Amino acid sequence: MSSAERLPAGAQWLAGPPPRASRFGEPARFREGLYRISPRCLAWMVPNGSWGETNIGLVEAEGASALVDTCWDLNYTQEMLAACAPVLERAPVELVVNTHADGDHCWGNQLFPGRPIHATHACIHQMHHMNPRALQALKLGGRVLRHLPLAGLDRFGHYMSGMFAPYDFAPVRITSPDQGFSGERVLDLRGLQLRLIEVGPGHTDGDAIVHVPDERVAYAGDILFTGVTPVMWAGPVESLVAGLKRLQALDVDIIVPGHGPLAAPADVQDVIDYWDHAQEALHRCLLQGMAPDAAARSVVLGAEFRRRPWAAWDSPERMVTNAYTLYRHWGARLPSLPGQLGVMDLMRRQAALAFALPQATPRGMHAF
Ligand SMILES: [Zn+2]
Repeated sequence: MSSAERLPAGAQWLAGPPPRASRFGEPARFREGLYRISPRCLAWMVPNGSWGETNIGLVEAEGASALVDTCWDLNYTQEMLAACAPVLERAPVELVVNTHADGDHCWGNQLFPGRPIHATHACIHQMHHMNPRALQALKLGGRVLRHLPLAGLDRFGHYMSGMFAPYDFAPVRITSPDQGFSGERVLDLRGLQLRLIEVGPGHTDGDAIVHVPDERVAYAGDILFTGVTPVMWAGPVESLVAGLKRLQALDVDIIVPGHGPLAAPADVQDVIDYWDHAQEALHRCLLQGMAPDAAARSVVLGAEFRRRPWAAWDSPERMVTNAYTLYRHWGARLPSLPGQLGVMDLMRRQAALAFALPQATPRGMHAF
């Protein structure tokens, strides 16, 4: 589908690289670059919204601007800033907001020294849950593991080295937000109101959205993906869905999802439907005594799933992580590893399902 067909009314592409494939070599489903989405709101959109292909928000008002999120590494943050230069020259970044603590939304923070960075207290508490050096080591180690046909390590190595290949985490130094809030905070950007609304826990412990009422725009962070399978690291799902319904009820024309093309409020329903289906289908599996891996596999490979729009979404194997999070909240006793090791164990399990889905995108991560 061309970007012109997908663009909501009022959105206009301004600047960016020449058309190119996604970072994972997929044909781009929308045009990469900086879009104006209202008189004072912009968005840096990255096709196709897969791993680290994060959308960034930019709001400008009277000679100053606010950035909503930074990229997964310094190179991509600098590339984004270079494309935004015409705006930033007249309206330098005065403050930053992080929607949550996943690295692909905040590991470019160190490029904004001296600027206040706002986030929920729960987000700040989670800022060090992943370590850039460990991911860099895994990026390199994954290239070795992929040649070890033992206990699925080859698939895990292939999956992780493919996920991290576009990124350079070596120079990243985690820079925590210094302006914590809980509930809601209203920022005044030279007379323009930015409402920061805590909606977590759900995707992570500390999710927030940014609503710019005068511009009829919202930046959703990762509670909303479009055309990309959502992931729930934290849960509970009730809180995540409540956040989506809150987003849906805002009086806005355009929503910038954390990943995937620009959305309208009507697009939020597809994601709510995904969570309804995931809960219903996985709970049936739980009652049959199935482990979360097997449950996720049976749901994603099932006829009902394949009839629905999300069958075509990027990275369907994320159902594994979603199954683990749901099972945990349903009180299932699951073996679990602490912190970063636990996330890597989920990725190993996701890789196993990804290889059962060779047609799913990004294809390079789903097949040798
Ligand atoms: Zn995230």
